Formats: sequence, structure tokens, C-alpha cells
Amino acid sequence: MRGVGPRVAEMLAEKSIQTAEDLLYHLPFRYEDRQNPRSLDELVPGEVASVIGEVRGAALMRTRRMPLFEVTIGQGRFALKCIWFNAPYLDGKFHAGQTVAVYGKVEPSRSSSNFKMMQPQFEILPDASADAETRLLEVGRITPVYESLGGSRLASRWQRKVIFNLLESLHGVVPECLPQSMLDRLVLPNRETALREVHYPPEGTPLPALQSSSTPAHRRLIFEELFFLELGLELKRRRMKERQGIAFATNDKVREAIREVLPFHPTAAQKRALGEIVADMRAPSPMRRLLQGDVGSGKTIVAFQAMLVAMENGYQAALMAPTEILATQHYLAARKLLEKSSRKPRIVLLTGSLDEERKRSNRGLINRGEANLIIGTHALIEEKVEFDRLGLVVVDEQHRFGVLQRFKLMKKPNQPEPDVLVMTATPIPRTLALSLYGDLDLSVLDELPPGRMPIVTRRVPLERAPEVWDFVRKQVALGHQAYIVYPVIEGSKDDQPELDFSHDEPEAGIQPPARKSTPKGKTAELFAKAAQEASPNARSGLRSAVEMHEKLRTGPLAGLRVGLLHGRLDADEKEVIMRRFQRGEIDVLVSTTVIEVGVDVPNATVMVVEHAERFGLAQLHQLRGRVGRGTAKSYCILMTGERISPLGEERLDAMVRTQDGFELAELDLAQRGPGEFFGTRQAGLPDFRVANLLRDRQLLELAKQEAARFVIDPGPDVTPEERARLRAQLKQSWQRRYGLVEAG
Ligand code: ADP
Ligand code: MG
Repeated sequence: MRGVGPRVAEMLAEKSIQTAEDLLYHLPFRYEDRQNPRSLDELVPGEVASVIGEVRGAALMRTRRMPLFEVTIGQGRFALKCIWFNAPYLDGKFHAGQTVAVYGKVEPSRSSSNFKMMQPQFEILPDASADAETRLLEVGRITPVYESLGGSRLASRWQRKVIFNLLESLHGVVPECLPQSMLDRLVLPNRETALREVHYPPEGTPLPALQSSSTPAHRRLIFEELFFLELGLELKRRRMKERQGIAFATNDKVREAIREVLPFHPTAAQKRALGEIVADMRAPSPMRRLLQGDVGSGKTIVAFQAMLVAMENGYQAALMAPTEILATQHYLAARKLLEKSSRKPRIVLLTGSLDEERKRSNRGLINRGEANLIIGTHALIEEKVEFDRLGLVVVDEQHRFGVLQRFKLMKKPNQPEPDVLVMTATPIPRTLALSLYGDLDLSVLDELPPGRMPIVTRRVPLERAPEVWDFVRKQVALGHQAYIVYPVIEGSKDDQPELDFSHDEPEAGIQPPARKSTPKGKTAELFAKAAQEASPNARSGLRSAVEMHEKLRTGPLAGLRVGLLHGRLDADEKEVIMRRFQRGEIDVLVSTTVIEVGVDVPNATVMVVEHAERFGLAQLHQLRGRVGRGTAKSYCILMTGERISPLGEERLDAMVRTQDGFELAELDLAQRGPGEFFGTRQAGLPDFRVANLLRDRQLLELAKQEAARFVIDPGPDVTPEERARLRAQLKQSWQRRYGLVEAG
């Protein structure tokens, strides 16, 4: 590529740009209309505008609080003042007479200039001495603005040139990857046109369409990306249907086995979901189904019923939970539930921190088929357990990628593939779920068990902690129980966010205040840093579970039975604490986010979260979901420290305002970005190149329809050559997204 040496190639590779194609799909994030620049006299305060003018003066000013950099831009008798905070680095960049483009919010100005802009984006435009090409690309047209691919060197100006040259050199030879008949039918431009116009929009393209990525060129590229995603999923789903699974029988005997243990009447939604699951289990191909239901909707009992079906057919059933605590809880619940069973199945727990002896003996029980129901964590796939006759795997509260393929490892060779049921509380809209979870079919629990009351949610500043502890005492006096949750285990200088049971289980701890693109592994580091920043004088400004357990037990909650639970306890200790809390032998459980998902103690009515501003929305929603599980009125108290970021404010407000999981999920998605939200980033999957699943929902739906249609019948107009190119593109885009794992 012209303009790309080895050093630059290295920088680009860091941004996952390896090929010319990758670069062409790095689209502008906004556009500036430099065809007919706006004049200063038509600006309206409050609007966001781009302005081109001449620099009249520039100065660095040292105020008491911070250095300010000021540039005055003029146009005839009008002037616009631009101000940047803390920006000594701008000194020397601007000279009177230069032409600059600035982009920002227009505000009225008190001084002699007419308007001002705070912290606008800017670009110094090429003057007459610049080469013709640069001038051509930057002035007098709609100009693309790119996110930098590496410092100021690979910023917009560099990308404009390189991409322009690339498009020139590829003129007429960009291979089309979609069939012409499809493009005609959907009225979409061909690939080359789309790429050209998305970078260099033709004169007169409406700016709003460009900014919202809805020009025909944008739509074509987004559709293309989503189409190949959906096509791959459709093919996978079809291949799955052809694989050999187990056809479970459901007869009166099976129905009776379920009836004798069922502790309550299922809701209509639970019945429907179970019906769908059982229909899959009866079919000879392996089940791959997702059971989605908000916190507290009653997914567990549905799963237990499905597992009973497998066991009654003489197969083993496995339940995999994301934490040891949850696995332990399921284990206890299963034992209690199946006590009533006349068949007395053998239930075995397998987690990473069991001692070696017990692990070994449990593995033996599983391998010899003496264990019927196996409950555990990731240890189930990590500890080289080989099941004797595995019929069904249930994955609880799992919304991460990359696990499903590994179930193959669990069964003995020559055995049919087990059915898989994945449960999630993440409320993703149906179309999105179907695309994200790919080859999974979907069942939804859209109804809560009867008798639930809304949870009263309040924000309370730290100063009012004494009132909170009083309230906790009152609830305990009424016979209820409470959780008090902290962001860290111990407040030492190596402040650790709570980690999950498993070394490779990311981000069960609290989200760092930094948003988006937090690289894997950096979370803890960033968080510790943020904690120090928030409270520079204290060793750590955070109250921790261990420290507060001691303080509360001996102070404000003296006389109550206060327990402590966190991820660093070993499995036995966790089990003891959980069991005692479940039995009501502990009144108040001081904990970390290890109790975030799944924990089910209906008698608990109070959830206190300290430093609530530091938690992510999904976490807060999950934590709140630990109460309000019975018929008693429940409370969620979000205690906040002194400093709350604007995003933190937004989260807390949302929590107080609504209990609707969908609404909270949308905000969470907007705050964190799709990569973090869907967990694709943790799984190391690249985000979409041009599509945005939220913004492009309609195109996703269209892509899905087209993919299904294509698989059934591509139509007579699709040539063999088009088909071959489409297949090649499909392979390429799937390898890029999912790596080689999925290739097999
Ligand atoms: P989640 O979907 O969050 O995993 P659980 O399966 O833990 O929810 O169920 C939440 C609570 O509701 C549990 O205490 C469970 O026993 C109870 N529950 C589930 N289904 C029903 C029902 N049909 N009627 C009454 N209570 C139910
Ligand atoms: Mg659950």
C-alpha cells in the first residue's frame, strides 16, 4: 500500500488492520461539510456545527486552576473563540492567517467575540503551499473524519490520503461478494461504489444521512457484514440439525417423576419454555437452546425438570454455574428437591477448589456412571472429566462465547452428542439474541412467578449510613435477612476487585469507571488506579467486605448474626456460609459481587450496595435481583461515596427509575459499547467492522431473512461464480470473527 511502511504496518496491526480491505472498512465516524462552509453569522447557540475560518490569534493562558488555550477564529467582522482546557501542547500549533476547521457546540460568549466553542475538535487546513492532493481531499467537499489509527501520525489526514489512493488503485477491480440479483432486489449499490461513497460522499449527499450511517453506501456495507454473519449462523444451525443426538422419551413415568418433586405450580411461561425444551429433547438432533428470563423469573426449576427428563431416560445431566457459590447453591437445592424423588438420583458437586481427593473420587463417580446429576463450575470442562452417558448439559447464567464447542470434550468417544441448554438473564431483544447466540434456539420467560412486589430502590449518601444500619436491624427484627455488598474483598494497597471462581472467567468483579475497550486483564489494574485517584490520601478510599464485616459486626450490627462471603474463601467455607444463610442462621451477609448472579434466598429482603456508583448496570440489576424473590416487600439501598461520574449518575438514576431489565440493558449497552456488553471482547472476538447491532436492528432482520432465503434457494439468477465468491467471503469473515475454533 502506498504510504504504509513497516513501522506503520505494525501500528495498524495493533488496531487489527492487516489488509487493504481492513483499512477500507475502517469507516469515518463523522463527516464535515466543507463544500459551503457555514458562516459565523448564521450560527445558533446550542447547535453543534463545523466552521471554517482564519486564525486571528492564539494564546496560552495560565489561570489559577489550569492552563487554558485560546484561539480566535475570524470571518469578516465575526469572531469565534475556541477554548481548550489543560492544553499547553497546543502552544505553537496555530498561527495568524492559517485556515482551520473546528467542530463543536456553539455557545454564546460574553467577551468581544460573538460565540465560543469549548474543547472543539479541530483541523488546521492545508494552505496554498500544500500539495494539490491534500487540498483536494480536505477542502471544498464533504470531508471524512476518522478515528486515529495511531497518534497524530495516523489521524484523519493520513487516512484520507491512503484510502483515497487505495480506492484509485482498485478502480474497477474491487470484487463483488454479493449476488447481483440480490443487490438489485434490495436496491443496494455494488461494493466498490459503496466503499468509494462512504469515504468520499458525492457532492450533495445529505449530511444527516451520512452521520447516521444510513446512506445507500453505508447500508450496503452494513448489510454485507450482517448477511455473512447470518448466513454462517443459518448454515451452522442446519448442520446441527443433521448431527446425531439423543431422542429422549417422555412418557407417563417421566411425567410422574417430575410431578412428584415439583414444589409449586409453574407459570404459563415456564410451562411453555419447558414444552419447547422437551420437544427439542425428543428430537434426534442435539438441542442447542437458550432460555432467557429476567432475574427471578424462575429459570432454575425449568432446568431441573429438563434434567429429570434426561435422568429418567438413563442419562447423566450436568449443570454448570459461573461461580462456586452458585454451583453450591444449585447442589443444595437439587438435593432438597430430589429428596422427594422415589428414584433417589446420586448428585455430585465438582468445583475447582474442592480438595484433590474429593475431586478424584467425584470424577470416578461421574466416569463410571454412578453419578446421575453433576453440578459444578468450569471445572466440569477443565478437570478432564469424562462422563459415562452424558445426556444434557445446562449452563446457568452464561452469556459468554466460546464455551459451547467444548462440550464435545465431555462425552466419551462414540457417544451421541448431549443436548445443551443455556440460561441467561441478559435481556437482549429477540432478533439480537438470535444473532448473537447464533445457532441457539430461543425460549423466553416473560412472566414472573405470582406474588412479587416491586423492590423499593433508594440512593443514600454515605453520611446516612447509620440510618441504613438501623433499617437493616429493623428488617432482621421482622424475621428477614439482608445482603451488604462491597466492591472489593480487602482494602489493602493491592486492592483486588472480586474475582470469579475461575482464573479465565473475566470481569465478575466490578467494572472500572473507564468505559469501553478495556482490554482483558487490565480491568483490575485500571480499577485499582481509579480507586487511588478517587481518594489520593487514603491508602484506598474503598470500604471493603473484610474490613466492614468486622466493623459492622462489632459496631452498628452488634448482636446480629453477621456472615462474610467472598471469592477467596475455599469451597467448603463458601458452602457452609451459604447453607447457613439459606437456613436463616445468618441474618446479614457481608459480601462481594460473588453473590451477583443466581443466589436465591427468598427470605432476604434488603440489598445494600456500598460504593454503588462503581458498579455496572448489569451488576446492579443482578444484585437487586437477589431480593424481592418472595412475597415480602423488599428494598435495594444504593449507597454512594463522594465522587460520582456522570455515567455513574446515569446508572444510579436508571436503577431508581426502573426495574425493567430491557430498559436497563439498553442503557448498559449504550454506556459500555457492544463489545463489553455482549462479552465478545472478553472472548477475544473482534467487534463488527461497520455494523452496530443496536442501530442496525432493521438491517439485521433483513440480513437474517435474506440468509435464510439464500440457503433454501439462491434463485436462478445467481451464477456459479457468484456462489463461489460468496462462499469464499463467508469463510473469510467467519475465520476473522471466530478464528479457527469454529472452522471444525
Ligand atoms: P432465576 O430465573 O433468576 O434463576 P430462580 O430460578 O432462582 O430465578 O427463581 C427465583 C425464585 O422464584 C426461586 O425462589 C424459585 O423457587 C421461585 N419460583 C420459581 N418459579 C416459581 C413459581 N412458578 N411459583 C412460585 N415460585 C417460583
Ligand atoms: Mg438463576
